[in-house]
Amino acid sequence: MAESSRELFEEAKKIFPGGVNSPVRAAVKPYPFFVKYAKGAYVYTEEGNRLIDYVLGYGPLILGHANDYVLNKIKEGLNNGWLFGAPNKNEINLGKKIISYVKPGGKIRYVNSGTEATMTAIRLARGYTNRKYLVKFDGCYHGSHDSVLVQAGSAATEFGVPNTLGVPNDVAKLTLVAKYNDLNSLENIFRNYGDEIAAVIVEPVIGNMGVIKPNKDFLQGLRKITKDYGSLLIFDEVITGFRLSMGGAQKYFNIDADIVTLGKIIGGGFPVGAVVSKSEIMDYITPEGKVFNAGTFNAHPITMIAGLYTLEFMEKNNVIDKASNSAKILNELLLDYGIEYTINRVESMMQIFFTDKEINNADDARMANKELYTKFHESLINKGVFIPPSQFETMFTSYEHNEDIINYTAEKIKEVIKGM
Ligand code: PMP
Repeated sequence: MAESSRELFEEAKKIFPGGVNSPVRAAVKPYPFFVKYAKGAYVYTEEGNRLIDYVLGYGPLILGHANDYVLNKIKEGLNNGWLFGAPNKNEINLGKKIISYVKPGGKIRYVNSGTEATMTAIRLARGYTNRKYLVKFDGCYHGSHDSVLVQAGSAATEFGVPNTLGVPNDVAKLTLVAKYNDLNSLENIFRNYGDEIAAVIVEPVIGNMGVIKPNKDFLQGLRKITKDYGSLLIFDEVITGFRLSMGGAQKYFNIDADIVTLGKIIGGGFPVGAVVSKSEIMDYITPEGKVFNAGTFNAHPITMIAGLYTLEFMEKNNVIDKASNSAKILNELLLDYGIEYTINRVESMMQIFFTDKEINNADDARMANKELYTKFHESLINKGVFIPPSQFETMFTSYEHNEDIINYTAEKIKEVIKGM
């Protein structure tokens, strides 16, 4: 049996496309390290290397790995069985908590991933408005279903084209693609198709192009245009929910969306997604209404426990502020160091771009030096620091990233940058 990560990856390549089960994992070169276990701010590889983790499962682990409080609750819960196919009290407990924080807070439907959450939200918006078009923004990621795997087509039309094989043009053209932080591009689309637009979906802070912040008036303008045309505004808060604040980006930026999609943190590291909206809209979902959604694993009992006690731990331990403060200190330690780079940070989401330009949209992010980023990432792994292997992901900090860890990280980053 293979033991080192290199050998394990050879085995994995024989049975998984590209050797992995989600593509970004293969971006760790020359081969991905295999994780044996993880605790606090660290992951430990099969070869026994310890890495400070700024990937954190791509967002869910705001408490860090294997938080003892949540771990004990999960262990207790497992004794009662782990799948019932019938309702369970914890889904109400978690649901009430989520709804108490996330506006408009009427009702919630749990699903199993962010992908399912946005797929369901989009179907719900179409069912509720009886309109066909969806608008998304270049650079925002909303999961791996057909309507959102779409990029901008030619400049002459706003119709999207597939950015993967397997999505028919006929499907992609129902998604119109606008530019993030550019209200003119959105207004153009609404002028042409406004009456047929069911919804606009947006990452209020982009976390899938590195980190990109909304300009001052962007989200407000977006709210106004959608309202004017009777379209729904979907905030995809799969990353930002319970990270920017307990009320997510809505509370953080003081903007009310019509439908909110959640995932990641609300499952405490177990598979989860959720749709939240006011009851009038949510009651379109089956069995109350006629917009279909179902799932064997919806409201999985162990996910409910992990989510409930993660949020409870967050309430009692000032987790969001601690995680944000760590990222803030790291950001400050890295200001003006050596070669030119730009750091974008919003609370505990942060990314570094090797460019001297501001990064305000997907085109800007694509112009940054990706090769240098890749080298940076590789060198950091060798120094015991794991940041995302792709420029187009986000570094996260957690409750466990204390000042010593942050200082150590800053030192290592400076060493690497000096070497570049
Ligand atoms: N929306 C956003 C904003 C995301 O960041 C992601 C995943 N990173 C998704 C949706 C899809 O979530 P999942 O991977 O759980 O399907």
